[in-house]
Amino acid sequence: MFKGYESEISKIYSTLRDNETKALRSRKEEIKRVIPEVFEIEKEISKASISLAMTALKNEGNVEKSLKDIREKITDLRIKEAELLTSKGYPINYLEPQYTCNNCKDTGYINNNIRCSCYKKYMVHVYYKNSQLKDILRENNFDNFNINLFSNHKSDNVPVSPRKNIEKIWTSCSSYVKNFKNSNENLLFYGDSGTGKTFMSNCIAKELLDCGFLVVYRTADELIKNLREIVIEGNKDLEKLLIECDLLIIDDLGTEQKTDFSRSELFNLLNKKLLKRNKMLISTNLSPEDILKNYTERISSRLLGNFNIFKFYGEDLRIAKNLGRIN
Ligand SMILES: [Zn+2]
Repeated sequence: MFKGYESEISKIYSTLRDNETKALRSRKEEIKRVIPEVFEIEKEISKASISLAMTALKNEGNVEKSLKDIREKITDLRIKEAELLTSKGYPINYLEPQYTCNNCKDTGYINNNIRCSCYKKYMVHVYYKNSQLKDILRENNFDNFNINLFSNHKSDNVPVSPRKNIEKIWTSCSSYVKNFKNSNENLLFYGDSGTGKTFMSNCIAKELLDCGFLVVYRTADELIKNLREIVIEGNKDLEKLLIECDLLIIDDLGTEQKTDFSRSELFNLLNKKLLKRNKMLISTNLSPEDILKNYTERISSRLLGNFNIFKFYGEDLRIAKNLGRIN
């Protein structure tokens, strides 16, 4: 699906297969030592399988009966082999290859060209490993969330204290992650710098990536650069990545350079994703009023109409953290 990752993913599959080939070889050696009769039976089975093929090829005499006889012989041998294995406490499939994914036998493909469902799991793994997210998310995750950094003190211009507010957001985000697969919900976080928007979106990213969803993170500025690459250089893979990922996080909307190009391409992207019901999480310092002022009506109406909006507020967490103030 995404160029550049394919060879890395196919390497993962070939390592899985190589490891299993080695493991199978050593299981065979072990059985040869512990139950040599099983090994003799294996030889007989492969001889019988060859004669089955030869009989079918020659097509002489009563072929149907001969084939039936050989098949029965193979079944008897298999039963005998299974009995011997289980009598010594081995599972009956001990001498068969054990795949991580039985659907594609660790090739990534079914019937040679259809991508197996397990492919996405490895794609997320490779994407995650190669993205800048990995380092950020080591620090920013729900486990490291410190609610004590948010003040209990409610000022007059807000309905609840910053701590109450963040608790509500936290609960909504947790259930967002839990219901992610079955919902079409898009999120818009707005508020001043340092009020926890990026932290919260990183927490969501980490949880979803760990569950095998493909999350792509871009600052608004990077996103516009990507859109330029898509439009001007025709980078189709990049377009596919941005549109088809499970969650596109756009951080710091409003800090990008706003031009006619950026506005119209941003609109196209939002629209395509909304139509495909592929989710987005946008964080911005712009209030809804600022959004209306800074963007065209087409963009604003989508942002304000199709996103669940959460307001973040409180004192700057980065400053509070540095001062060691907890209240
Ligand atoms: Zn598979």
